[in-house]
Amino acid sequence: MKLEVEGTPQVASGEQPSNFNILKGPRDIRDLALDDLDNLIADAGERSFRAKQLAGWLYGRGVESFDAMLDLPKEFREYLKHHFKIGSGATAHVARSSDGTRKLLVSLGDGEAIESVIIPVREMEMTPAGEKLNQRITLCMSSQAGCAMACEFCATARMGLHRNLGVGEIVSQVFLARKELADDEHLTNYVFMGMGEPLANYQRLVKALTMMTSAWGMGISPRRITVSTVGLVPMMERLLTEVPVRIAVSLHATTDELRDRLAPINKRYPLEVLLETCARLPLKQRERITFEYVMLRDVNDSIDDAKRLVKLLAPLRGKVNLIFFNAFEGAGFEGSSRAAVEDFQAILRKGNLTATIRESRGLDIAAACGQLYAEQAARG
Ligand code: SAH
Repeated sequence: MKLEVEGTPQVASGEQPSNFNILKGPRDIRDLALDDLDNLIADAGERSFRAKQLAGWLYGRGVESFDAMLDLPKEFREYLKHHFKIGSGATAHVARSSDGTRKLLVSLGDGEAIESVIIPVREMEMTPAGEKLNQRITLCMSSQAGCAMACEFCATARMGLHRNLGVGEIVSQVFLARKELADDEHLTNYVFMGMGEPLANYQRLVKALTMMTSAWGMGISPRRITVSTVGLVPMMERLLTEVPVRIAVSLHATTDELRDRLAPINKRYPLEVLLETCARLPLKQRERITFEYVMLRDVNDSIDDAKRLVKLLAPLRGKVNLIFFNAFEGAGFEGSSRAAVEDFQAILRKGNLTATIRESRGLDIAAACGQLYAEQAARG
């Protein structure tokens, strides 16, 4: 297995790198950050303040037609229309769960498809003024079509890596998701926990995150964005120096022997190296790293595993999300029982580790990562 950790497109043999696909037809103008728009404006012979205006339409207001950009000169709009399209991908299918979860299958126009998931969460928060009901709506975003990381229990891994997503393809997921929201709903949080390993598409991810968080862009607070990684160590530290997003690490095992099997990237960056890196990450005050731990029956859910986890994470500012396994056909794993998950949580808490049980969402709509794609592929 070849693991690609830099921004260069990695493709299965016989396929073309992602840039070929992206450049087919007009280019997505949402590939362009403010400095690219500055260059574009200069090339077009327009005045420099137009770059911010254009960014405002593209990322702030999220319009989908150049004709809507009424304060831009008509000839410039025609120039843009001639050279660019706005946004990538189209929602080909929406699966709606009875729990409010909506799973979008986004087709990318070159035969590839990715998934984004809208997950509403209601929770009670204790405030000095009493209990308050919070409605969060999280968008789970993809960073690659498929994935090369080969985690044994993950449905997307079975696809292998098809290609990296372009910047416009990453940010367009937000605009496509917004169209599926009711009038009184708005996205409050963003997690890169969909298809792909975000840090294996590093440069495009960082550019997309910059668009999402800049004042000239979408103006989203970086504190509301979480990048989840299987543990690409060199990129983890770099990421936080470039964009102060939150980071989540998919741990899933407490010994190298087991993690080598569940998440083979562990052979390159074993637990000790990964956790040392986590300990060095430049976190904000009171910020903690989330460690994800998928509970697999008789594989990683023993009392000893829980005790080892407490020891491993003791030197770190971390918290644990215990995740129910989302079963899929041919997975070869079963999820732990609720009782086993609760016992595991109790041990972590006794060890002074914050541990939250993540309830499965969208079970009735094949919510396991990669499942909707697999179903569509099977249907042809
Ligand atoms: N590649 C990144 C982000 C995408 S996966 C990462 O590994 O973190 C997002 C999360 O879903 C990871 O914690 C992953 O381990 C978990 N996951 C994958 N398949 C799952 C399944 N079948 N059931 C439950 N969680 C799963």
